[in-house]
Amino acid sequence: MTNKQRILDRFLSYVKIDTQSDPGSDSTPSTKKQWALANLLVDELREMGMQDVNIDEHAYVMATLPANVAHKVPVIGFVSHFDTTPDFSGKNVNPQIIENYDGGDIILNKEKNITLSPEYFEDLAQYKGQTIITTDGTTLLGADDKAGIAEIMTAMQYLLDNPQIEHGEIKICFTPDEEIGRGAHKFDVQKFGAEWAYTMDGSQIGELEYENFNAASAVVKVTGKSVHPGYAKDNMINSLYIAQDFISSLPRLETPEHTEGRQGFFHLSNMKGDVEESELHYIIRDHDKKHFEARKKMILDLGEEICTQYERDCVHIEIKDQYSNMKEKVEPVKHIVDLAEKAMKAVGVKPIIKPIRGGTDGAQLSYMGLPCPNIFAGGHNFHGKYEYVPVESMQKAAEVIVKLAQLTSDQYK
Ligand SMILES: [Zn+2]
Repeated sequence: MTNKQRILDRFLSYVKIDTQSDPGSDSTPSTKKQWALANLLVDELREMGMQDVNIDEHAYVMATLPANVAHKVPVIGFVSHFDTTPDFSGKNVNPQIIENYDGGDIILNKEKNITLSPEYFEDLAQYKGQTIITTDGTTLLGADDKAGIAEIMTAMQYLLDNPQIEHGEIKICFTPDEEIGRGAHKFDVQKFGAEWAYTMDGSQIGELEYENFNAASAVVKVTGKSVHPGYAKDNMINSLYIAQDFISSLPRLETPEHTEGRQGFFHLSNMKGDVEESELHYIIRDHDKKHFEARKKMILDLGEEICTQYERDCVHIEIKDQYSNMKEKVEPVKHIVDLAEKAMKAVGVKPIIKPIRGGTDGAQLSYMGLPCPNIFAGGHNFHGKYEYVPVESMQKAAEVIVKLAQLTSDQYK
């Protein structure tokens, strides 16, 4: 059993450092302040006795825990990100510690009347009796993903302190800029040297994910012909009406607000225009590769159809692929998911295996040659002031890491 106070202290020390990333910046890390936590982690890893501790020019922190068994064991890795989302302030985080949670409302900020209530956030109720870390209602907490970092650090410390637990070589990596979609961009998979890895970046206790969306964006440009409205008969072509035809020709119920689970969608996220020219911005999402391709084709076909209907070249569409479902890369090595499931059960955690309706860094890493399912880090309500994490969930995540190290070794004995 990992020590509760130690993982809590670790977590609290990390969330106090502001590491917000910035999509407007081209550098890596996108913000200078991310270096502060990256450098602290390097110091701590060296101090605890990890090997090959290094940080590269983009602030990727890597370290090795050498094997303590003689037989050959595949090298596995654990990955977390230290940046927080640009969507909400992560400055001056002032965590509140609610011990022995009574199951009722938690007042985050009396002055501003901000309450974390199980009436709105039903998941809270299951943590009655546990120690909950919340915000003070003015910032996010940063459990996404500093909980993941605290868990990996705690697990490594635990393995170092308990050499009787047998394990193969373990690699760990902490990345910048995950929240702006670039956590994997400068990740040196070759140098990392693991056969597979796990991101510790999921939400509630038990989550285990290896399926995510296939994703693309589509920009639809519609051109019309602007003429003085008083003299427009048989001459004006209003791009807004053509755009309207386009929008209403796509299936109205295949949208984010009408879909769940593995159902895909077209999402009209933005539109702008005038008589002369209109622009529609869509994102296209589907877990199934075939359905995903069919969706892209449907958009392109519709563009052509409308051109035919209006007898002019009035619709131009640009589709860009964004990311792919990691299932394609993980399914052939499904034993790495089974192993995680087994590790959870071994430490008394009920696995919740479900498809992600989004993407993860693990998906990108999987396509870069490092199959990488996602394991819970324990937090809830990411990216906002209602974010919280039970310490017991963090402890369990650390135990899952320890158990995974042990099981991997056992399996190759
Ligand atoms: Zn995250």
